[in-house]
Amino acid sequence: MLNSNKCLICDENLNETIELTDWRSNENKKFEYYVCKNCGNIQIKEIPENLSDYYSDNYYSLQKSYINDKQFSKIKKFLLKHRELYFFKIKKDILGFLVNVIKPSKEKHRENFAIKFLFDNMNKGIVLDVGSGDNWLWQYFHKLGWTNIIGIDPFINNDIFINGHKVIYKCTFDEFIKNNNCDNIQAVMFNHSLEHIANPIETLKLTHSILPSNGKCLLRIPLNNGIAKRLWGYQFPTFDVPIHLWIPSINTINVLLQKCNFIINENIYENEIDLLMEYYKNFKSESEIPNLSKIQKKYFNKLSMMSYVLGISDIIGLVLEKK
Ligand SMILES: [Zn+2]
Repeated sequence: MLNSNKCLICDENLNETIELTDWRSNENKKFEYYVCKNCGNIQIKEIPENLSDYYSDNYYSLQKSYINDKQFSKIKKFLLKHRELYFFKIKKDILGFLVNVIKPSKEKHRENFAIKFLFDNMNKGIVLDVGSGDNWLWQYFHKLGWTNIIGIDPFINNDIFINGHKVIYKCTFDEFIKNNNCDNIQAVMFNHSLEHIANPIETLKLTHSILPSNGKCLLRIPLNNGIAKRLWGYQFPTFDVPIHLWIPSINTINVLLQKCNFIINENIYENEIDLLMEYYKNFKSESEIPNLSKIQKKYFNKLSMMSYVLGISDIIGLVLEKK
Protein backbone atom coordinates (compact mmCIF):
# COMPACT_ATOMS: atom_id res chain seq x y z
CA MET A 1 0.00 0.00 0.00
CA LEU A 2 1.01 3.61 -0.38
CA ASN A 3 1.86 6.10 2.35
CA SER A 4 4.76 3.88 3.29
CA ASN A 5 8.43 4.19 2.50
CA LYS A 6 8.56 0.89 0.65
CA CYS A 7 8.22 0.58 -3.12
CA LEU A 8 4.73 -0.75 -3.68
CA ILE A 9 5.94 -2.95 -6.53
CA CYS A 10 9.36 -4.33 -5.48
CA ASP A 11 9.35 -3.65 -1.69
CA GLU A 12 12.65 -1.74 -1.78
CA ASN A 13 13.13 0.81 1.03
CA LEU A 14 12.74 4.33 -0.36
CA ASN A 15 14.72 7.44 0.59
CA GLU A 16 15.24 9.59 -2.48
CA THR A 17 12.42 11.98 -3.41
CA ILE A 18 11.63 14.37 -6.26
CA GLU A 19 9.06 17.15 -6.52
CA LEU A 20 6.48 17.01 -9.30
CA THR A 21 4.12 19.80 -10.28
CA ASP A 22 0.37 19.51 -10.72
CA TRP A 23 0.21 20.92 -14.26
CA ARG A 24 -3.61 21.01 -14.36
CA SER A 25 -3.98 23.62 -11.65
CA ASN A 26 -2.93 27.23 -12.04
CA GLU A 27 -1.22 27.21 -8.66
CA ASN A 28 1.65 24.94 -9.72
CA LYS A 29 1.24 22.93 -6.54
CA LYS A 30 4.07 20.52 -5.89
CA PHE A 31 3.91 16.95 -4.60
CA GLU A 32 6.71 14.79 -3.31
CA TYR A 33 7.31 11.43 -4.99
CA TYR A 34 9.70 8.66 -4.01
CA VAL A 35 12.06 7.25 -6.62
CA CYS A 36 12.82 3.55 -6.28
CA LYS A 37 16.48 2.85 -6.93
CA ASN A 38 15.83 -0.84 -7.41
CA CYS A 39 13.04 -1.01 -10.02
CA GLY A 40 12.81 2.62 -11.14
CA ASN A 41 9.23 3.15 -9.98
CA ILE A 42 8.17 6.58 -8.73
CA GLN A 43 5.34 6.82 -6.21
CA ILE A 44 3.64 9.57 -4.26
CA LYS A 45 4.92 10.05 -0.71
CA GLU A 46 1.52 10.85 0.75
CA ILE A 47 -1.85 10.50 -0.94
CA PRO A 48 -3.75 13.80 -0.52
CA GLU A 49 -6.83 13.33 1.67
CA ASN A 50 -8.96 15.23 -0.84
CA LEU A 51 -7.74 13.19 -3.84
CA SER A 52 -11.18 13.16 -5.50
CA ASP A 53 -11.04 17.00 -5.70
CA TYR A 54 -8.21 16.63 -8.20
CA TYR A 55 -10.49 14.76 -10.57
CA SER A 56 -11.94 18.00 -11.89
CA ASP A 57 -15.35 17.96 -13.54
CA ASN A 58 -13.86 18.13 -16.99
CA TYR A 59 -11.49 15.22 -16.35
CA TYR A 60 -13.97 12.83 -17.84
CA SER A 61 -15.46 14.55 -20.79
CA LEU A 62 -18.90 13.31 -21.56
CA GLN A 63 -19.90 13.87 -25.15
CA LYS A 64 -23.63 13.90 -24.67
CA SER A 65 -24.36 14.34 -28.37
CA TYR A 66 -23.63 10.63 -28.85
CA ILE A 67 -25.78 9.38 -26.04
CA ASN A 68 -28.96 11.41 -25.88
CA ASP A 69 -31.99 9.68 -24.42
CA LYS A 70 -33.53 8.84 -27.77
CA GLN A 71 -33.43 5.20 -28.85
CA PHE A 72 -31.76 4.56 -32.19
CA SER A 73 -34.01 3.12 -34.88
CA LYS A 74 -33.07 -0.35 -36.18
CA ILE A 75 -31.71 1.04 -39.44
CA LYS A 76 -29.69 3.74 -37.67
CA LYS A 77 -28.17 1.12 -35.36
CA PHE A 78 -27.32 -1.04 -38.35
CA LEU A 79 -25.60 1.79 -40.24
CA LEU A 80 -23.74 3.17 -37.22
CA LYS A 81 -22.44 -0.30 -36.31
CA HIS A 82 -20.98 -0.65 -39.79
CA ARG A 83 -19.49 2.82 -39.59
CA GLU A 84 -17.74 2.14 -36.27
CA LEU A 85 -16.43 -1.25 -37.45
CA TYR A 86 -14.87 0.55 -40.40
CA PHE A 87 -13.77 3.60 -38.43
CA PHE A 88 -12.05 1.68 -35.64
CA LYS A 89 -10.41 -0.60 -38.23
CA ILE A 90 -12.08 -3.70 -36.79
CA LYS A 91 -12.74 -4.89 -40.33
CA LYS A 92 -12.76 -3.65 -43.89
CA ASP A 93 -16.37 -2.60 -44.25
CA ILE A 94 -17.47 -0.94 -47.49
CA LEU A 95 -20.88 0.02 -46.15
CA GLY A 96 -19.16 1.47 -43.06
CA PHE A 97 -16.79 3.41 -45.32
CA LEU A 98 -19.73 4.92 -47.20
CA VAL A 99 -21.61 5.83 -44.04
CA ASN A 100 -18.45 7.48 -42.72
CA VAL A 101 -18.15 9.56 -45.90
CA ILE A 102 -21.71 10.84 -45.50
CA LYS A 103 -21.68 11.21 -41.72
CA PRO A 104 -18.10 10.94 -40.40
CA SER A 105 -17.42 9.50 -36.94
CA LYS A 106 -16.39 12.16 -34.43
CA GLU A 107 -14.17 9.85 -32.44
CA LYS A 108 -10.40 10.30 -32.30
CA HIS A 109 -8.20 7.43 -33.45
CA ARG A 110 -6.09 7.43 -30.32
CA GLU A 111 -8.23 4.88 -28.46
CA ASN A 112 -7.94 2.27 -31.23
CA PHE A 113 -5.83 -0.12 -29.23
CA ALA A 114 -8.41 -0.39 -26.42
CA ILE A 115 -11.24 -0.73 -28.90
CA LYS A 116 -9.44 -3.45 -30.82
CA PHE A 117 -8.95 -5.28 -27.51
CA LEU A 118 -12.65 -4.89 -26.77
CA PHE A 119 -13.72 -6.34 -30.13
CA ASP A 120 -11.18 -9.18 -29.84
CA ASN A 121 -12.76 -10.27 -26.56
CA MET A 122 -16.39 -9.23 -26.28
CA ASN A 123 -17.72 -12.03 -28.45
CA LYS A 124 -16.42 -14.50 -25.83
CA GLY A 125 -17.76 -12.79 -22.69
CA ILE A 126 -17.88 -9.60 -20.66
CA VAL A 127 -15.02 -7.13 -20.90
CA LEU A 128 -14.57 -5.09 -17.71
CA ASP A 129 -13.06 -1.64 -18.01
CA VAL A 130 -11.63 -0.74 -14.61
CA GLY A 131 -11.37 3.03 -14.10
CA SER A 132 -13.58 3.77 -17.08
CA GLY A 133 -14.85 7.16 -15.97
CA ASP A 134 -18.33 7.78 -17.33
CA ASN A 135 -17.07 6.51 -20.67
CA TRP A 136 -19.51 7.85 -23.26
CA LEU A 137 -18.14 5.46 -25.88
CA TRP A 138 -19.16 2.39 -23.86
CA GLN A 139 -22.59 3.95 -23.35
CA TYR A 140 -22.83 4.56 -27.08
CA PHE A 141 -21.79 0.95 -27.81
CA HIS A 142 -24.58 -0.28 -25.50
CA LYS A 143 -27.02 1.82 -27.48
CA LEU A 144 -25.81 0.12 -30.65
CA GLY A 145 -26.36 -3.31 -29.06
CA TRP A 146 -22.75 -4.12 -28.14
CA THR A 147 -23.51 -4.80 -24.51
CA ASN A 148 -20.55 -6.96 -23.41
CA ILE A 149 -18.62 -4.00 -22.08
CA ILE A 150 -19.00 -2.92 -18.43
CA GLY A 151 -17.23 0.06 -16.84
CA ILE A 152 -16.29 0.53 -13.19
CA ASP A 153 -15.21 3.78 -11.60
CA PRO A 154 -15.45 5.01 -8.00
CA PHE A 155 -15.04 8.67 -9.00
CA ILE A 156 -18.16 9.09 -11.16
CA ASN A 157 -21.31 10.67 -9.66
CA ASN A 158 -23.77 7.79 -10.08
CA ASP A 159 -24.28 4.41 -11.72
CA ILE A 160 -25.04 4.84 -15.43
CA PHE A 161 -27.83 2.94 -17.19
CA ILE A 162 -28.54 2.56 -20.90
CA ASN A 163 -31.73 0.84 -22.07
CA GLY A 164 -32.33 -0.36 -18.51
CA HIS A 165 -28.90 -2.04 -18.22
CA LYS A 166 -26.24 -0.84 -15.82
CA VAL A 167 -23.30 0.06 -18.06
CA ILE A 168 -21.00 1.87 -15.63
CA TYR A 169 -20.85 0.95 -11.95
CA LYS A 170 -19.88 3.57 -9.39
CA CYS A 171 -17.63 1.40 -7.21
CA THR A 172 -14.10 0.10 -6.80
CA PHE A 173 -12.88 -3.03 -8.57
CA ASP A 174 -12.87 -5.01 -5.28
CA GLU A 175 -16.46 -3.98 -4.54
CA PHE A 176 -17.55 -4.99 -8.02
CA ILE A 177 -15.97 -8.44 -7.67
CA LYS A 178 -17.53 -8.93 -4.24
CA ASN A 179 -21.07 -7.96 -5.27
CA ASN A 180 -21.41 -9.37 -8.80
CA ASN A 181 -21.25 -12.71 -10.53
CA CYS A 182 -17.93 -12.74 -12.40
CA ASP A 183 -18.33 -16.10 -14.19
CA ASN A 184 -18.82 -14.56 -17.61
CA ILE A 185 -15.87 -12.13 -17.48
CA GLN A 186 -13.51 -12.76 -20.36
CA ALA A 187 -11.18 -9.79 -20.20
CA VAL A 188 -10.22 -6.84 -18.01
CA MET A 189 -8.95 -3.47 -19.19
CA PHE A 190 -6.78 -1.03 -17.28
CA ASN A 191 -6.82 1.74 -19.81
CA HIS A 192 -4.68 4.38 -18.12
CA SER A 193 -6.16 3.52 -14.74
CA LEU A 194 -3.81 1.20 -12.82
CA GLU A 195 -1.53 4.15 -12.00
CA HIS A 196 -4.52 5.72 -10.21
CA ILE A 197 -4.90 2.67 -7.96
CA ALA A 198 -2.97 2.45 -4.69
CA ASN A 199 -2.73 -1.34 -4.58
CA PRO A 200 -1.74 -2.45 -8.10
CA ILE A 201 -0.36 -5.84 -7.05
CA GLU A 202 -3.54 -6.86 -5.21
CA THR A 203 -5.61 -5.49 -8.10
CA LEU A 204 -3.75 -7.49 -10.76
CA LYS A 205 -3.83 -10.61 -8.59
CA LEU A 206 -7.58 -10.20 -8.25
CA THR A 207 -7.80 -9.81 -12.04
CA HIS A 208 -5.83 -13.03 -12.44
CA SER A 209 -8.22 -14.84 -10.10
CA ILE A 210 -11.40 -13.90 -11.99
CA LEU A 211 -10.13 -14.48 -15.54
CA PRO A 212 -10.59 -17.82 -17.31
CA SER A 213 -7.41 -19.58 -18.49
CA ASN A 214 -7.71 -17.99 -21.96
CA GLY A 215 -8.70 -14.59 -20.49
CA LYS A 216 -6.84 -11.42 -21.39
CA CYS A 217 -5.90 -8.26 -19.56
CA LEU A 218 -5.12 -4.95 -21.24
CA LEU A 219 -2.68 -2.66 -19.51
CA ARG A 220 -2.06 0.82 -20.92
CA ILE A 221 0.09 2.91 -18.66
CA PRO A 222 2.55 5.82 -18.82
CA LEU A 223 6.24 5.09 -18.30
CA ASN A 224 8.66 7.30 -16.41
CA ASN A 225 11.74 6.60 -18.51
CA GLY A 226 10.59 7.27 -22.07
CA ILE A 227 11.88 9.79 -24.54
CA ALA A 228 9.77 12.77 -23.38
CA LYS A 229 11.09 12.34 -19.85
CA ARG A 230 14.63 12.22 -21.22
CA LEU A 231 14.08 15.40 -23.21
CA TRP A 232 12.01 17.44 -20.81
CA GLY A 233 12.28 15.88 -17.36
CA TYR A 234 9.30 15.14 -15.19
CA GLN A 235 7.13 18.11 -16.12
CA PHE A 236 4.70 16.79 -18.67
CA PRO A 237 1.14 15.54 -18.74
CA THR A 238 1.63 11.79 -18.45
CA PHE A 239 2.97 12.37 -14.95
CA ASP A 240 -0.38 13.91 -14.04
CA VAL A 241 0.23 14.45 -10.33
CA PRO A 242 -1.21 13.88 -7.77
CA ILE A 243 -3.84 11.58 -9.33
CA HIS A 244 -1.16 9.29 -10.73
CA LEU A 245 -0.16 7.67 -7.47
CA TRP A 246 2.74 5.84 -9.06
CA ILE A 247 4.38 5.78 -12.49
CA PRO A 248 6.44 2.74 -13.45
CA SER A 249 9.57 2.25 -15.48
CA ILE A 250 9.68 -0.67 -17.91
CA ASN A 251 11.55 -2.60 -15.25
CA THR A 252 8.81 -1.91 -12.68
CA ILE A 253 6.27 -3.39 -15.10
CA ASN A 254 8.34 -6.57 -15.45
CA VAL A 255 8.51 -6.99 -11.64
CA LEU A 256 4.75 -6.34 -11.35
CA LEU A 257 3.83 -8.93 -14.00
CA GLN A 258 6.10 -11.54 -12.51
CA LYS A 259 4.57 -11.07 -9.05
CA CYS A 260 1.04 -11.35 -10.45
CA ASN A 261 1.68 -14.33 -12.75
CA PHE A 262 0.96 -12.58 -16.01
CA ILE A 263 3.00 -12.79 -19.20
CA ILE A 264 3.01 -10.42 -22.15
CA ASN A 265 1.07 -11.60 -25.18
CA GLU A 266 1.38 -8.41 -27.19
CA ASN A 267 3.50 -5.33 -26.56
CA ILE A 268 2.89 -1.96 -28.14
CA TYR A 269 4.91 1.14 -27.49
CA GLU A 270 2.48 3.88 -28.07
CA ASN A 271 4.20 7.19 -28.59
CA GLU A 272 2.15 9.24 -30.95
CA ILE A 273 2.87 12.49 -32.62
CA ASP A 274 -0.02 14.30 -30.94
CA LEU A 275 1.09 13.17 -27.50
CA LEU A 276 4.63 14.38 -28.05
CA MET A 277 3.23 17.68 -29.25
CA GLU A 278 1.14 17.91 -26.12
CA TYR A 279 4.27 17.51 -24.03
CA TYR A 280 6.04 20.08 -26.11
CA LYS A 281 3.22 22.57 -25.68
CA ASN A 282 3.27 22.12 -21.95
CA PHE A 283 7.00 22.34 -21.87
CA LYS A 284 6.92 25.72 -23.56
CA SER A 285 3.95 27.95 -22.93
CA GLU A 286 1.24 27.57 -25.52
CA SER A 287 1.38 31.21 -26.53
CA GLU A 288 4.96 30.77 -27.71
CA ILE A 289 4.01 28.15 -30.27
CA PRO A 290 0.52 28.82 -31.64
CA ASN A 291 1.13 26.38 -34.50
CA LEU A 292 3.79 23.80 -35.04
CA SER A 293 5.63 24.19 -38.31
CA LYS A 294 5.90 21.40 -40.85
CA ILE A 295 9.54 20.90 -39.86
CA GLN A 296 8.62 20.60 -36.19
CA LYS A 297 5.91 18.07 -37.01
CA LYS A 298 8.39 16.07 -39.05
CA TYR A 299 10.83 16.19 -36.14
CA PHE A 300 8.18 14.91 -33.73
CA ASN A 301 7.13 12.15 -36.10
CA LYS A 302 10.73 11.00 -36.34
CA LEU A 303 11.13 11.10 -32.55
CA SER A 304 7.93 9.18 -32.12
CA MET A 305 9.02 6.47 -34.53
CA MET A 306 12.50 6.30 -33.07
CA SER A 307 11.19 5.93 -29.55
CA TYR A 308 8.95 3.10 -30.71
CA VAL A 309 11.86 1.28 -32.34
CA LEU A 310 14.23 1.85 -29.43
CA GLY A 311 11.69 0.88 -26.77
CA ILE A 312 11.76 4.27 -25.07
CA SER A 313 8.12 5.26 -25.47
CA ASP A 314 6.36 7.29 -22.82
CA ILE A 315 3.33 5.06 -22.80
CA ILE A 316 3.09 1.31 -23.09
CA GLY A 317 0.19 -0.86 -24.16
CA LEU A 318 0.31 -4.52 -23.18
CA VAL A 319 -2.04 -7.42 -23.72
CA LEU A 320 -1.43 -9.84 -20.85
CA GLU A 321 -2.34 -13.46 -20.42
CA LYS A 322 -2.18 -15.81 -17.46
CA LYS A 323 1.07 -17.72 -16.96
ZN1 LIG B 1 10.74 -0.58 -6.75
